[in-house]
Amino acid sequence: MNILLLGPPGAGKGTQGALLSQALGLPRFATGDLLRDAVKHGTPLGLRAKAVMEAGHLVSDDLILGVIRAELAKPVAAQGVIFDGVVRTIPQAQGVDELLRSLGRTMDHVLIFDVTDAQLLQRLAARRSVEGRADDDPAAVATRLQAYRQQTAPVISWYETHGGVTRIDAVGLVDEVAARVMRALGRA
Ligand code: ADP
Repeated sequence: MNILLLGPPGAGKGTQGALLSQALGLPRFATGDLLRDAVKHGTPLGLRAKAVMEAGHLVSDDLILGVIRAELAKPVAAQGVIFDGVVRTIPQAQGVDELLRSLGRTMDHVLIFDVTDAQLLQRLAARRSVEGRADDDPAAVATRLQAYRQQTAPVISWYETHGGVTRIDAVGLVDEVAARVMRALGRA
C-alpha cells in the first residue's frame, strides 16, 4: 500500500509518518530527511540542494524525481511506502504517478494534514529551538510557507481529480491525530 502525506511545513507529517510506518510495517520515505542527510555528508546531491533548501525554496523536480525513482527500486519498497512530504509540485505528482504505474503500483491513499496558520508558526518556532534547523529561521519559514501555498497546495486539486484525497484534522494531541489517520485508512 502506498500512502502520501501532504500538508504545510509543521503540520506533523513527520511525526505521524513515523507512527504510521511502525503501525503498518512499511518504510517511511521523506525527501526532506534524505536531502538533509545528503547535505550533512556532502554528497553531490547535497551540494546541489544545500543553498536552495536553507533558503526555504523547493529543490528541482528533476533531482527529486531521481531520488524517488531510486527509492522505489529498493526491495524494501516492494510492499509499499509512506511518502512523507515527497510530492510538492504538480510535475512531481505526475512523475510519481508514472513511476508507480510503470511498476504496476498506485498511490492508494493521499492524506492532507489540515492545520491553522497560527498552529504552524507556533510549531515551527518550537522546533527551531529544539532542532536548530537552518530553514526554521523566520525568513526561511516564510519562504517555505509561500512555496507550499504556491506550488504544493495545487497538488491537492491534482489528486482530487486523480483518485481522491482524505483530509485529516491535524490539530490535537499526537495520539488523537494518529487515531484519525488510522480511521481514514479504515484501520481503526
Ligand atoms: P518542510 O515540511 O518544512 O518543508 P522538510 O524536511 O520536509 O520540511 O523539507 C525540507 C526542505 O527540503 C524543503 O523546504 C525543500 O527545500 C526540500 N524538499 C523536500 N522535499 C521536497 C520535494 N518533494 N520537492 C522539492 N523540495 C523538497
